[in-house]
Amino acid sequence: MGLMSGKNVVIFGVANKRSIAWGIAQALHREGARLALNYQNERMEESVRKLAAELPGDTFLAPCDVTVPGDIDKFFGRLGKEFGPLDGLVHSIAFAKREELGGSFADTSWDGYAMAQQVSAWSLIGLVKGALPLMEGRDASVVCLTYYGAEKVVQNYNVMGVAKAALECSTRYLANDVGPRGVRVNAISAGPIKTVSAMGVSDFGSLLDTMAQKAPLRRNVDQGDVGNTAAFLLSNLARGITGQTIYVDAGYSILGL
Ligand code: NAP
Repeated sequence: MGLMSGKNVVIFGVANKRSIAWGIAQALHREGARLALNYQNERMEESVRKLAAELPGDTFLAPCDVTVPGDIDKFFGRLGKEFGPLDGLVHSIAFAKREELGGSFADTSWDGYAMAQQVSAWSLIGLVKGALPLMEGRDASVVCLTYYGAEKVVQNYNVMGVAKAALECSTRYLANDVGPRGVRVNAISAGPIKTVSAMGVSDFGSLLDTMAQKAPLRRNVDQGDVGNTAAFLLSNLARGITGQTIYVDAGYSILGL
C-alpha cells in the first residue's frame, strides 16, 4: 500500500517532463494517488495529455488559466462532477515577464508586478477557494512551491522574489483560515532546478553552480527530491504540519557566510 492510496489529488503546473509538478505527479502516482491535472490552454493540451498517458490510471485533465475570469470555477465544477472529492491540491505555477527577471529591480513595472503577483501568488488563494468545497472535512492538504529569493536577495530574481514572499505569507493566512475546516496548507522552498520557467531568470546557471559548490550536501536538488517531500506533506504522515515553509535545498538556506 502506498502512502497516498485512496487519495485524490489535483496538480496545477505540469507543462513538460522538466516541470517540478511532473516530479510531484510521478511521486504521488507511485504512492498510489489518483490524479487530476490542469493544462493552461489548448496550446498546452497535447503535451500534458501525452505526459498524463505515461501514468497508468484514469487521470483527469481539464483547462485552467488562472488569469482567465471564470476558469477556476469552471475547472472545479467539472472536477467535482467527473473526478470526485479532493484530498490534496498542488500549486506549482508561476510567471513573470522575462524583462522583469534581470537588471535593476527599481525598473519593475506595475504591469510586470501585477502579472507576477496574479499568476504566482494570488492564484494560490483562488485555487484554494475553488477547491475548498471538495476538500472540506477530509484531512486534505495543499502544497505550493516557493524559492529562497522570497526572503533573501537573489540576483535577478527581482519581481518573482516579491511574489514568492506574498505566496509564503498567503500560505500562513490560508493555513489559519482553512485549518478549522480540516485543510492544511504548506510551501516547499525548492533549491534551483533547471526548468523552462527557471531559465527565464537571467544567469540562472550560476545559481545551480553556487548551490552545488556551497550547499551542505554539495549537490543540486531535483524534481524527485521535491516530489517525495510533496508526497509526505500531502500524506497523513504530515497531519500535524500546517502553515510552514519546508526547505528542499540540500541545506543551502542554513548558510551565513
Ligand atoms: P514550469 O515547468 O515552467 O512550470 C510553471 C507552470 O506554471 C507551467 O505549467 C505553466 O504553464 C504554469 N503557468 C504559468 N502561467 C499560468 C497561468 N496563467 N495559468 C495556469 N498555469 C500557468 O517551471 P517549474 O520550475 O517547474 O515551476 C513550478 C513552480 O516551482 C513555480 O511556482 C516556481 O516558481 C517554483 N520553483 C521553481 C524552482 C526552480 O528552480 N525551477 C525553484 C523553486 C520554486 P505553461 O507552461 O502552460 O505556461
